[in-house]
Amino acid sequence: MKKIILLGATGSIGTQSIDVVLGHPNMYEIVAMAAGYNIEELKKIIRIYPTCKYYSVRKESDALALQAMYPNLHFGHGDDGLLGLLDVKADMVINALVGFAGLKPSLLTIEKGMVLALANKESLVTGGPLVKAALKKFKGTMLPIDSEHSAIFQCLQGNKTSEVKRLIVSASGGSFRDKTREQLVDVSVKDALSHPNWSMGKRITIDSATMMNKGFEVIEAHYLFDIDFANIDTIINKESIVHSLVEYVDRSVIAQLGTADMRIPIQYALSYPDRLPLMQSEPLDLIKVGMLHFDAMDFERFPLLALAYEAGKRGGNSGAILNAADEVAVELFLNEKITFLQIEECIAKAYETMEFIANPSYEDLRVTDEKTRAFVYEYGGK
Ligand code: NDP
Ligand code: MG
Repeated sequence: MKKIILLGATGSIGTQSIDVVLGHPNMYEIVAMAAGYNIEELKKIIRIYPTCKYYSVRKESDALALQAMYPNLHFGHGDDGLLGLLDVKADMVINALVGFAGLKPSLLTIEKGMVLALANKESLVTGGPLVKAALKKFKGTMLPIDSEHSAIFQCLQGNKTSEVKRLIVSASGGSFRDKTREQLVDVSVKDALSHPNWSMGKRITIDSATMMNKGFEVIEAHYLFDIDFANIDTIINKESIVHSLVEYVDRSVIAQLGTADMRIPIQYALSYPDRLPLMQSEPLDLIKVGMLHFDAMDFERFPLLALAYEAGKRGGNSGAILNAADEVAVELFLNEKITFLQIEECIAKAYETMEFIANPSYEDLRVTDEKTRAFVYEYGGK
C-alpha cells in the first residue's frame, strides 16, 4: 500500500489524482490533503474519500468550521498547516498546487525522503537548481505528472540520456492557436478559458493561450532531464495526442501517444515503473482521429515562449520573475483589469525591470516573487 499526501486536492489535477487512487483502493491510500479556499469541493472530497484524516486549508476560519463539522479529522491552516501535512508519514507527495506556493513543499518533500510526484511545474521554473540540489543531497526521486514530461520520461525508459539528441515538447496551441496577433487585441476572458483539448485550472488554461505554459515546460524539461536548452524544441500538435517526443543520436524518434486524459500521466507517476489499467477511460482510436497535424512554433506570434528560453538560459531568479509576473498578469486579465496582449507586456516589463540574482537562495526567490508581484500589480493596475 503506497501512502500519498495530496497537495492541491481541490484542483483539476488534485481531483483527478483522487480518481486515480479510487481506481486502485488496494494499492494507494491518501493520508493527507491540502486545499486552498474551495471548501465546498473539499467537503465533497471528504464524502467520497472519508478515510483520509489530515487536512489543511488556507483560512483559519475555514479550518475551525471544518473541525467543528468533522471532529474526528484534523484541520490545519495557512503555510504552517500546509507544510505541517508533510510530517504525516507517507511514501509519496503529489504536488498539484499552483504557483510559487509549490516550491517550499517540493523542497520539504525531498528533504523528508518522500517521492515527489510533480505537477507543480512552478517548483522547477522558479527554483530548479534548489530542487536539483535537494534531490542530490537527500538522494531523492522526482517523477513528472505534466503530460509532456511524463511522455518524455516514458520515451526515455531503457535509454541513456547521453544518447538523446533533443527533446521535442508538444503544444496544443491553446485557445487562440488559429488567431493572428491582430485578432488577439480584443479577445475575451471567456474565449481564453475555452481550451480546445484539455479541461484544466484557470491559470494554466490562460498560460496555454499565451504559450507561457510551454515556456515553463521547456524550463521544467531542462531541470527534469538535464538537457541543454539548445536541445529542447517545441512543436504544435493540434490534436494533443502526441504528448512529446525524444530524438536519439541515431535519428530514431520515440513518441508517447494517448488521449488527452491527465489521469494517464498521474497514474504513471503513481505506478512507475509498473503500469496499471486505467479505470473508466477511453482507448486511443487513431483510426477515428484519422490525421495528426504538426506545425512549427512561431516565436513572434508567441513572444513569451522566446522569453522563457531566454530566462531559462539566464537562470538565477529569472524563472521566479517570469512566474510571479505571469501569476499576477493572468489574475489581472481574469479580473478584466488588463487585456490579453497586456499579459505579455506586463511579463516582459517585469523581466526587464526586476533585479537579476545569479545564485538565489530560497529567501532570495521569495523576495523576488513578492517584489515582482507588487511591480506587476502596480504596472498592470495603472
Ligand atoms: P487548479 O487551480 O485547478 O488547482 C490548484 C490547487 O491548489 C487547488 O486545490 C487550490 O486550492 C490549491 N492551492 C492554490 N494555492 C494554494 C496555497 N497557497 N495553499 C494551498 N493550496 C493552494 O490548478 P491545476 O490543477 O490546473 O494545476 C495544478 C498544477 O499542475 C499547476 O502547477 C499546473 O501548471 C500543473 N498542471 C496542470 C495540468 C492540468 O491539466 N490541470 C496539466 C499539467 C500540469 P483551492 O482551489 O481550494 O483554492
Ligand atoms: Mg503540460
